[in-house]
Amino acid sequence: MTRSELTGWVEETLGEKRFRAEQIFRWLHDKRARSFDAMTNLSKALRVKLGDAARVGSLTLDEVKVAADGTRKLLLRTHAGHRIESVVIPMGDRVTLCVSSQVGCKIGCDFCLTGRMSVRQNLSAAEIVDQVYHAQENLTEQPLQLPNGETPASGRRVTNIVYMGMGEPLDNYDQVVRSLKNLLDDLGQNFSSRRITVSTSGIVPKIGQLGRDVPVNLAISLNASHDAQRDRLIPINRKWDIATLMKALREFPLAHRRRITVEYVLLDGVTDAPEDAVRLVRLLRGLRCKVNLIPFNPWPGAPYGRPTAEAVERFGATLRDAGYTVTIRYSKGDDIGAACGQLDGLAA
Ligand code: SAH
Ligand code: SF4
Repeated sequence: MTRSELTGWVEETLGEKRFRAEQIFRWLHDKRARSFDAMTNLSKALRVKLGDAARVGSLTLDEVKVAADGTRKLLLRTHAGHRIESVVIPMGDRVTLCVSSQVGCKIGCDFCLTGRMSVRQNLSAAEIVDQVYHAQENLTEQPLQLPNGETPASGRRVTNIVYMGMGEPLDNYDQVVRSLKNLLDDLGQNFSSRRITVSTSGIVPKIGQLGRDVPVNLAISLNASHDAQRDRLIPINRKWDIATLMKALREFPLAHRRRITVEYVLLDGVTDAPEDAVRLVRLLRGLRCKVNLIPFNPWPGAPYGRPTAEAVERFGATLRDAGYTVTIRYSKGDDIGAACGQLDGLAA
């Protein structure tokens, strides 16, 4: 529940005073309590009443894997027994957490391992926010270390959150929006909306709605420069084609001085041609955006290969020459299967 939903429930269903909702909210989202029993400023009777009426949605942490580059993968289990992953990514003075929004993903992009999983389940808002709380706990217990053994100022907490783990966030819209409202709440973690990014494969009707509901950053997995190509890579393109998607992006209510992130996965010999870069420049004309190029991360049996370093550089140069800010996402943690497109809930 969001704070306002919790307040309504505490007053109407439990018949308790409004301020109790605030106390419970603080326990859940500031102090990260995972049981009503931990809420020691509530009477025993109220804690029992809460336990009879509700459950604190949470995840169990099974394992933490640490990659050579310091990236950490958290393997977590839901109440229903599904396994999901979150990835803690140290980047200079930031610590970015990549959260999952679903178990598996029914969009089924051809290049993405998550899209190949047979299990498909939405995560609840509680299960989404608990990924953040587990990561915060992990960083408190084992702060990040620089090669010289020192802990950087930001090494003890998550500074940024990206919804780029397993699942399509806009295919689990209500729970994702609830999770965002909880993370932004000033009685909870009080994240700045500038530090949260939701990435979508392009569920067009939900894009504008997200912009109106919560003021977070938007990233769009464009990944192709023309429809025949995108139809093949991202099946929902047959429903909402590139022109329809671009129109939704142009109409997105962008806050002052913010830009949309356009993600583009470079597949060797498939999407990395110079002509693709030229078409991409044409598509993006007039859109306030920056481009994030993601060289393909292979997984066993993947039908695509990693682009050459020259192809990546040339592609980036064409976009830069056209005036775009380009970043290249050399994904981290690939030795522990934690890179983009490698998440499948298994430990390997
Ligand atoms: N479902 C959302 C959120 C997941 S983000 C979305 O698709 O946007 C995952 C990002 O990693 C997407 O931009 C996706 O295009 C990219 N990706 C998926 N598989 C990949 C792979 N094997 N190598 C590199 N990037 C990949
Ligand atoms: Fe789903 Fe995103 Fe993977 Fe496509 S890239 S299958 S939308 S998680």
